Amino acid sequence: MSEAPLIVLKGIIRRYQSGDDFTTVLHDIDLTIHRGEMVAIIGASGSGKSTLMNILGCLDRPSQGEYRISGRSTSELEADELAELRREHFGFIFQRYHLLNELDAVGNVEIPAIYAGQHRDERREKAEAILQRLGMGERMHHRPGQLSGGQQQRVSIARALINDADVILADEPTGALDSHSGEEVLDILQELNREGHTIIIVTHDRNVAARAQRIIEIRDGEIIADARNHAGGDDPSVNDGVVGSRPQRPKLFSGIRDRFNEAFAMALRSMNAHRMRTFLTMLGIIIGTASVVCVVALGQGSQKRILDQISNLGTNTLYVRPGRGYGDLNAAQITTLTVGDANELAKLPYVMTATPANSTTSTVRVDDKEVSVTVSGVGYQYFATRNSKLLEGRFFDKQGVNDMAQDAVIDENAKKSLFPHEHGSVIGKIVLLKDVPMRIVGVVKAEEQGMGGAPELKVFLPYTTVQTRMTGSRLLESIMVRVKDTVDSAEAETMVTAFLTKRHGEQDFFIFNSGTFQKTVQATTATLALLVASIAGISLFVGGIGVMNIMLVAVSERINEIGVRMAIGARQSDILQQFLIEAALVCLIGGVLGVLIAAGFGVLFAEFSTRFQLIYSPFSIVVALMCSSLIGIGFGFIPARNASKLDPVVALARD
Ligand code: ADP
Ligand code: MG
Repeated sequence: MSEAPLIVLKGIIRRYQSGDDFTTVLHDIDLTIHRGEMVAIIGASGSGKSTLMNILGCLDRPSQGEYRISGRSTSELEADELAELRREHFGFIFQRYHLLNELDAVGNVEIPAIYAGQHRDERREKAEAILQRLGMGERMHHRPGQLSGGQQQRVSIARALINDADVILADEPTGALDSHSGEEVLDILQELNREGHTIIIVTHDRNVAARAQRIIEIRDGEIIADARNHAGGDDPSVNDGVVGSRPQRPKLFSGIRDRFNEAFAMALRSMNAHRMRTFLTMLGIIIGTASVVCVVALGQGSQKRILDQISNLGTNTLYVRPGRGYGDLNAAQITTLTVGDANELAKLPYVMTATPANSTTSTVRVDDKEVSVTVSGVGYQYFATRNSKLLEGRFFDKQGVNDMAQDAVIDENAKKSLFPHEHGSVIGKIVLLKDVPMRIVGVVKAEEQGMGGAPELKVFLPYTTVQTRMTGSRLLESIMVRVKDTVDSAEAETMVTAFLTKRHGEQDFFIFNSGTFQKTVQATTATLALLVASIAGISLFVGGIGVMNIMLVAVSERINEIGVRMAIGARQSDILQQFLIEAALVCLIGGVLGVLIAAGFGVLFAEFSTRFQLIYSPFSIVVALMCSSLIGIGFGFIPARNASKLDPVVALARD
């Protein structure tokens, strides 16, 4: 034989550390196995057979010594290269079968081929053919729980064969079987050996070992005998060729896609297997997402409502009032704010209009009906400045103001109270304000009022009419100055202040600036929204920690499964992917449910509140969904990586 032997062990030592002590389990093992041999390794329980087997199968590394496969040293190989070796060259058969319970026979047999990237139809066909051949044709779609021990072991043999392994490693393959099933399994192994597979069986049973052509005896971690067994059938068929035909190298993309699909399906199966736990984990994410989306929507809705109210005050409008501020007790004594001021202000280049205003309360009588109203005396520009919406009739004009016309514009609330049964027009009707008759010339939409409280009834008259016919006072309550759009309202405020201070000799007035007020409110509501959203964000974060917690549990619960997957060739990335997908899915589904719940809340909210609507921005929904998937990936990463970094032999040993 010119080629290097299949397996060469030189001076292999395996120690285990427990605390400060080292136990040496394998002492200086030298062993050479050629292609096509059928070897039994026999020894008492605890003699180190499984330890040796795990090293042979690259599930475990020796503490010392050299292991060569086909002349290639294994000591420098990375975890994924070892996985490739296991996937392409070794097939494992375990005493306890180690099948995945959620998959049927075909599904179990397929797994190594999925990791090898074999095409879906090809691998399915092949899995079925192998199962057929092993006498499992009737039970392709049974799950492990529905199969007898012997049948399960056949499935695991089929799994070992799917990638055309050269070497089959069987650790006590008959240990859990009755003698009849055991014989059958051994028959299969012998037949596979005749076809050229190298078979290595570990057993404590001499009868089992007798089937092999070579029996290696091990005691306390040392080889004490290594002999040909002529009873064990044919001499090794010196078959150094590769067994069978290798599956064609798969296309890279479809291989990756298949592995992703497998990981995805696994994630779904495991979520389904633990529905309650999955749901509870999801709940954190659902609540988190729903609250983020709702809070943002509430914030935006209320901000819009407030801004709508402010915009009623007009943009770029200054309200000049007597006194030093709201509630100034001396304001009533200040007599300097006059119509003359308004006229002079109107002449300033940066002022569009200056509208005097005063007000009083009064009663209005129509026929035998009497209500109390707020009477606003305003200039004709008032309606344009406040963006008043005319429902019927007209506004009064400059002429009306000059003539102190007895023309009244009422708002819809006043109309409803005064003419509850009138559905048509009320234009031209005469009402008595105190005892002064006024003619209704227009009806306007009611102005937005503060939250709560009964709506005010409003009547608008020319301010001249109010001064002469109602209050008898020439004092103004305010001057509403509309600044030109090209001028900054803060600058205009400064200039108006200077102008009036000069006219009055002192600053005995104050200015309310709708522009700066609007900005302040905008900034405040934005800050509030940010604050509340960050609280909601914290709840999402807590949800994420819940996900992490559950994923850690899931990993430790499924350590054995992870070990099996690694033994049959899963890369670290395959394991990582499987757990990450599960975490991301939990969070994404939670996120979608959260958004739906938030939307449902919006519908409910609209039922009970007419004040304002929730405004859902697509942006906040997209961000919430992205956040929840990122949380899944972020918090799922550590558990998933822990899983992928597990030592296969440690994972397998866990039960
Ligand atoms: P066998 O398969 O021949 O019954 P093993 O190879 O499983 O024996 O174990 C050989 C010895 O190594 C036993 O004494 C066992 O206690 C010890 N051993 C096996 N695995 C470990 C481990 N992970 N840590 C410490 N000791 C171990
Ligand atoms: Mg053992």
